Amino acid sequence: MKIIHSAAEMQEIARQLKIQSKIIGFVPTMGYLHKGHLSLMSRSVKDCDVTVVSIYVNPMQFGPKEDFKKYPRDIKTDLKLCRQQNVDYVFIPKDAQIYPKGYMTEVQVKGITDSLCGKFRPGHFTGVCTIVSKLFNIVKADIAYFGQKDAQQALVIKKMVKDLHMSLKIKVLPIIREPDGLAMSSRNAYLDDKQRQDAVLLSQALKKAKQLIEQKQRKTAKIIFQMKRLLSQSEFATIEYIAIVDADHLSEIKQLKAKTKVLIVLAVYMGRVRLIDNILVKVD
Ligand code: AMP
Repeated sequence: MKIIHSAAEMQEIARQLKIQSKIIGFVPTMGYLHKGHLSLMSRSVKDCDVTVVSIYVNPMQFGPKEDFKKYPRDIKTDLKLCRQQNVDYVFIPKDAQIYPKGYMTEVQVKGITDSLCGKFRPGHFTGVCTIVSKLFNIVKADIAYFGQKDAQQALVIKKMVKDLHMSLKIKVLPIIREPDGLAMSSRNAYLDDKQRQDAVLLSQALKKAKQLIEQKQRKTAKIIFQMKRLLSQSEFATIEYIAIVDADHLSEIKQLKAKTKVLIVLAVYMGRVRLIDNILVKVD
């Protein structure tokens, strides 16, 4: 496994791999790797000739009051995990290379970035699209792997790739969860013991919503009311948003219709830790 810090070197390696007609799989991450990340890597290793993982905490996607500075980092363990997954290259760029003095370009997807996380984290998706476009250009990926955990992000990236005629495929893989149902996230490391216990309520609220839909509840306000009730059991939980939206366009739904696919999404603070989760549900 090779560790690369220079964008120019990574680009040159990718160019050589292309000449050899290798299929390049790419997993962009912010590090502090867990089984969710590993599932993406293992799929890339299976599907592709070469797998590149990037580890970069991208300052552009964090708001001024967000956790950029204290975002968990552990490069040594990350590299060990990448090696265990048979990753070929780990790209760890430096801020000065990604955003050199005089840097001026941003990539913005409109519309689907206005709601949900985009509404509460202004500029976040522009930061994500900018770094992901840059990484795609550096790594020259044929297939890039993303997690359904960040459902809005996956849709935004797909839209960007389509709109900008980027010639790579985006694969979105299922959410990996802890045994009690909590979606794995690097930010779970911030939770204290009591908050960690209560954090299970997020996935329980999603399961409850799915059950209600299966029991033919069609009014989303009633489903969301029950979800809020469940989450209110925790003294730490502050709901940022809960929404039931169209799975492709993220438009809010009031009354569920038969034969549709909906996404139930939520963002909840457990104390000061912001957690997100979602579930896809088919309405019969
Ligand atoms: P991050 O390091 O949080 O930026 O995540 C890097 C990639 O891993 C993104 O595509 C995430 O959606 C994905 N990911 C994060 N958590 C999970 C999870 N629990 N299950 C599956 N994929 C995940």
